[in-house]
Amino acid sequence: MGGREATMVLMDENGKRCDGRTVDEPRRIMIKAGGLKNADGSAYIEFGDNKILVGVFGPRDVHPKHMSNTDTGILRVRYHMEPFSVGERKNPAPSRREIEISKVIKEALEPAVMLDKFPRTAVDVFIEVLQADGGTRCAALTAASVALADAGIPMRDMVAAIAAGKVADTVILDVNNEEDQAGQADMPIGYMPNLEKITLLQLDGVLTPEEYKKCVQVGVDGCKLVYELQKKALNDKYFGNSGD
Ligand code: UDP
Repeated sequence: MGGREATMVLMDENGKRCDGRTVDEPRRIMIKAGGLKNADGSAYIEFGDNKILVGVFGPRDVHPKHMSNTDTGILRVRYHMEPFSVGERKNPAPSRREIEISKVIKEALEPAVMLDKFPRTAVDVFIEVLQADGGTRCAALTAASVALADAGIPMRDMVAAIAAGKVADTVILDVNNEEDQAGQADMPIGYMPNLEKITLLQLDGVLTPEEYKKCVQVGVDGCKLVYELQKKALNDKYFGNSGD
């Protein structure tokens, strides 16, 4: 963020973005529930050029034991980018960014998961980013919700996520990598549509109060679109002919 490639044209005179989308058009999103035989629940998402796999394990015994809580279960999230997932090879060791995103996704999922039903246990969520193109935390959070539901973990709602942002002084939906690097603002939002609650809201960049409100509205509307695809993924697996 912050116009590192400020000369790049992010929006043309017809209001089309650098990848041809209109201001409120999300990238192509495909979600698949299931797929990993050894996980209790799993999901795969393609969100534009992002490709992310999520495996959920648990509720299961907590190791080390002192981390367990007698009153409630705990949620543990590991977000990891493969070294080949980005143009410039990434060091496989966990970076500060991956540690931060793991924490952010965990905190965004916690309000949705009924951990109090499983005291002394842990639910582990492993997120593998196979290919990254801006917006991986939102895509990963979306897929993690589906994987948790696929694992049969009782949930109050699913968290759907997408980023709103600002490029060329215009509020946009679903910020891609170029827009993230050269644009003016990026606001990832996670939202539980049934409960009408936001569980993730970050902002990188500068917005006026009006733009801030518009970004939240555009983002929440985008989350509602993503939610329909999450439900479709689960319906396809459990009531459709996907064969999983
Ligand atoms: N990225 C990269 N190398 C890295 C980390 C990130 O090329 O080591 C790219 C990747 O495409 C990612 C984007 O930068 O999606 C934006 O990263 P950010 O930290 O804003 O998180 P995200 O938008 O993926 O949630």
